[in-house]
Amino acid sequence: MVESVNYQSHFVDAIGRLKAENRYRVFANLERDARTFPTALWRQDGDPTEAREVTIWCSNDYLGMGGHQDVRRAACEAIDKHGIGAGGTRNISGTHSQIVGLEEELADLHGKDAALVFTSGWISNLAALSTIAQTLPDCLILSDALNHNSMIEGVRRSGCEKKLWRHNDIADLERSLIEAGPERAKLIVFESLYSMDGDIAPVREIAALARKYNALTYVDEVHAVGMYGARGGGICERDGMMQHIDIIEGTLAKGYGGLGGYIAANEAIIDVVRSYAPSFIFTTSLPPSVIAGARAAVRHLKQSSVERQRHQRMAALTKHALAAAGLPIMHNSSHIVPLMVGDADLCKKASDMLLERHSIYIQPINYPTVDIGTERLRITPTPRHTEAHVTDLVESLVDVWRTLGLPFTEPKVVPFLARSTAAAIDPQCAYPEMKRAAE
Ligand SMILES: *Cc1c(COP(=O)(O)O)cnc(C)c1O
Repeated sequence: MVESVNYQSHFVDAIGRLKAENRYRVFANLERDARTFPTALWRQDGDPTEAREVTIWCSNDYLGMGGHQDVRRAACEAIDKHGIGAGGTRNISGTHSQIVGLEEELADLHGKDAALVFTSGWISNLAALSTIAQTLPDCLILSDALNHNSMIEGVRRSGCEKKLWRHNDIADLERSLIEAGPERAKLIVFESLYSMDGDIAPVREIAALARKYNALTYVDEVHAVGMYGARGGGICERDGMMQHIDIIEGTLAKGYGGLGGYIAANEAIIDVVRSYAPSFIFTTSLPPSVIAGARAAVRHLKQSSVERQRHQRMAALTKHALAAAGLPIMHNSSHIVPLMVGDADLCKKASDMLLERHSIYIQPINYPTVDIGTERLRITPTPRHTEAHVTDLVESLVDVWRTLGLPFTEPKVVPFLARSTAAAIDPQCAYPEMKRAAE
């Protein structure tokens, strides 16, 4: 007799495997408050009657722009005027004036001919990488070993041959470029700022190699746009490299606090992706309100550096305070503060204890987001965290580290910004609402 398939058991087993490996994900139910961010209400087990105020220390709304009053106002006005939806795909009635305006704004931000907006940063990498590589004959994709999942999926979908180069290792990249030879089409794919370690790519050296060996370059600036460069154009703007990189990809969901992704490049490349990418063509475009909000955020951060300065200051202050307390932070030169735990179970326990005992929310980062044995708490200070928040964070982490018996390091002094720089930044002028909420 043929045994019939027990469908349910396969689903239950799949979940059981994750739980056995401590990889099962539990989402915290959080209600963010635009006016008091990084404060949020946490509902344990989704209980609607019980909510507790917590401080978020792991948001990718890095600058708190999601709650900025100009951004909220622009989005509300657009809903009032245009309703909630775009009404169609870009080709079938869904190309509205807001999205056209945003694309012009983004092209200008990165010093490129044109830009194209997608429903998310994840989709923009999938769509752009696969389409660009497929358009080139026998393209070899040279991909940094630590690239984000969205880039891996884009590369896979292209069906092209892929070669990994060791993370940020220029010599390894050059070996592959030489091996491929000058005739072959080559696409170098990397991130400007890697979000889990917070390290920064050698953009100048990569661009120089691309020029030397005639390769095309594609950079994911998701964790840098809005936050680096004089107008928020990212690491490439900061390092004067925008015109030396062919395709720049970014998100509207992190530094800009909203939703959506994009690429900026020359006219022909943008036209190819617009015309050939199914994940761009066959989906409804983002609504005017979401785009209007993003547009306000991009515009604001082009002319205001107060948020960027205070962001860097709070990141430096947080690193300084954690290192001085002997907490094992991983050093880098960005705004990301990774705190090493090195064990999935302990990482989850530390996160739970921070939330339950100290009302601090930091999601544990476990495999497959990072390698096994490098599980960590990834802390993201924002300009809206205060010095009192940092003090509370340090005291809470020290308590958790002691309770769980986690190892401390030798207390270190991490260089902190000069007093004059700190004094020049007045948080109240950038965030009038922060003051109001505190009163
Ligand atoms: C978050 C992320 C993305 C995806 O962006 P979304 O707008 O959130 O879809 C792409 N690349 C990197 C490196 C990311 O961390």
